[in-house]
Amino acid sequence: RVVVVGSFNVDHVWSVAALPRPGETLAGQYHTGPGGKGFNQATAAARAGASTGFICALGEDAGGQLARALATADGIELHELRSDAPTGTAGIYVDRDGRNSIVIGPGANAELSVSYVDLQREAIGQARVVLGQLESPPASVAAAFAHARGAGALTLLNPAPADAVATPELWAAADAITPNETEFCAQLKRHTGAVIDPDKLAALADDELHADCRRLLPHGSVVVTLGAAGCFISHADGQWRGDERGYYRVAASAVRAVDTTGAGDAFNGALAASLAREPAQAFAAHVAYASRYAGLSTERAGAASSMPRDSEVRARFGA
Ligand code: ADP
Repeated sequence: RVVVVGSFNVDHVWSVAALPRPGETLAGQYHTGPGGKGFNQATAAARAGASTGFICALGEDAGGQLARALATADGIELHELRSDAPTGTAGIYVDRDGRNSIVIGPGANAELSVSYVDLQREAIGQARVVLGQLESPPASVAAAFAHARGAGALTLLNPAPADAVATPELWAAADAITPNETEFCAQLKRHTGAVIDPDKLAALADDELHADCRRLLPHGSVVVTLGAAGCFISHADGQWRGDERGYYRVAASAVRAVDTTGAGDAFNGALAASLAREPAQAFAAHVAYASRYAGLSTERAGAASSMPRDSEVRARFGA
């Protein structure tokens, strides 16, 4: 079982020719749908075939109802704090080059409390993998990780978004982190002061990248996702059964990407699901599965709603 602790947002998306400037009024193509890193990742975990629980905070409004209906449809067990605040929202403008401007209204997501997470101790204790992000209060994610570790579960932290700060307690409670290039460079700067250009990260020599990963999370594993360049894995000494190498790369799958929004969320949910479903496999095999799953997700537009099913991943890539 996977338990995700995280955010749910209702995304409001406007496709525009150019991003609006101060004082400007524009018309654009509008669509709305579910989002939030937590919910996207929980949907991916469930569709990748893991029994999945989702701990979140929702408002008493249409957004909350949407989350409940979608969770039911995907067989996700919802553990929701009902908040007086509105359900989380995101206002997103996307221009014709695919660049975006985003405003998030955390709303209920900010109300996910340590005391509510503590009440879910039993549900967390049933998980083999607990997955969190930084769109929820870090102390609450840290509380979930503490319960997970107490019950022998593995803790995965997706340190996203890049500008969010993880507390030292949360960092210490993560067995593995899964930053993309921007998030890796932002966290490395915050934790060590070292400055690396995210665009140059994938081209670094493996031993240099490994050394930076070790400085960033000395006690745990680091999986840096590099978009079409795949990902880089770095383990702490002696960690991870089945991986004889301390660091290595896993290639991205050959896909016809049309929309990479939510690729990171697909990767995280699938990685958690694979780790929970087949704990005896080598770590590299889990990353390879997550990479195939995320690759397939880029062939469709949308985030949570476009997450593929395990059967589709197997049909597309074999085995
Ligand atoms: P994020 O969405 O957080 O920016 P990435 O862009 O690093 O995350 O993508 C996460 C994973 O999704 C990658 O490691 C890779 O496996 C897969 N992926 C993303 N973009 C592509 C692509 N263009 N082709 C193939 N795989 C991709």
